[in-house]
Amino acid sequence: MPELDPSVQSLARSMFKDFYAKHPVTIDNLTKREFGFGTFEKKIAKRHMAFNNMESLNRYIAANIPAFVSSSPAFYENPSGRPMEAKGWLGSELVFDLDATDLHLECQKKHGTSWVCKNCLHEVKMEAFKLIEEFLIPDFGFSNKDIKINFSGNRGYHIIISSESVLGLDESARSAISDYVTGHGLKPESFFPTIADKTARLQGPKPNDPGWGGKMARAIVTALNAGVPSLEALGISKPMARKMYLNKGSIVMGITTGNWDKVSIPKKDEFWRNVSESMTIKQSDSIDSNVTKNPQHLLGMADTIHGGTGLIAKSVESVSSFERFDPMRDCIAFEKGETLVVANTKETLTMRGTDYGPYENKRIVLPNYVAMYMLLKGVAKLP
Ligand SMILES: [Zn+2]
Repeated sequence: MPELDPSVQSLARSMFKDFYAKHPVTIDNLTKREFGFGTFEKKIAKRHMAFNNMESLNRYIAANIPAFVSSSPAFYENPSGRPMEAKGWLGSELVFDLDATDLHLECQKKHGTSWVCKNCLHEVKMEAFKLIEEFLIPDFGFSNKDIKINFSGNRGYHIIISSESVLGLDESARSAISDYVTGHGLKPESFFPTIADKTARLQGPKPNDPGWGGKMARAIVTALNAGVPSLEALGISKPMARKMYLNKGSIVMGITTGNWDKVSIPKKDEFWRNVSESMTIKQSDSIDSNVTKNPQHLLGMADTIHGGTGLIAKSVESVSSFERFDPMRDCIAFEKGETLVVANTKETLTMRGTDYGPYENKRIVLPNYVAMYMLLKGVAKLP
């Protein structure tokens, strides 16, 4: 987080205060959750907090105006207990934390990882759709109504499952789920038993096989039908993609019966790694930040303000309305008023359909939500 001038912090706190006065927070299972609060320097400066009712949580927020409000996806008998073991774990929601930085996008090489452009937001939304439509619904059997989507307030989304069936999963089951969606430990030889034997017929998965095998077979068939660019998107080189496309009929026919001999690929290991890589969900690898694996992790609470952007970490109404969801339009907290700032950024910020910037040390009056976003991102100062 950029170091913030005290004057920026106090302006932010006064705006946050007005927001919370009009928008009290609410959350299910309040008394079973642990809460954490952050400053502009530290996302979670204080944790192990618990509240008996919504009023006392809202009173705490109004009195302290934290820069970040977090809550546990875990439920406890005694959420304020310390150490963690004293809390009496009752269960945890299953959470997937998707962040644009984990996607290693080309645009990030240009604008850096602290900035978030339209492409970052688009790509991370596609990643969320992929998780929901390629994994959570077909492979795990969840339905749209089991799946909650929250904008994180900055660069991504939290996908949360709260159904009874997941609450009791232990850490090893959560690890296995994380490994499955990230493709961790996926081995081509488990789908292609004869891959190492150059003389044998290449046996492989069929499109209607369950799990990863079927996923890979369907991906190749779909891409073959769509054309060369779709094959390239699976990590296949252009000359190879062209060759495959020319033989599309016989390749598709073969794959349908599990015969992959027609897919003549020189470096099979690399090919499968690329194909599976393009289909996995990109989550942070480090155990500490892999929220799916770690049920003790605190998560930015829905419908509170993110202290790094001034945006609302808003819950998306439903999976079906997610397509239309635009954080830069739907998560605005400071609707009214304007602020004079000195803006300095090479990037363009688009909020509510209007482009702001690039600016070179420009004194400019901006809507409060734009000014606050730039001040908190460190690309504007107060004069
Ligand atoms: Zn970007």
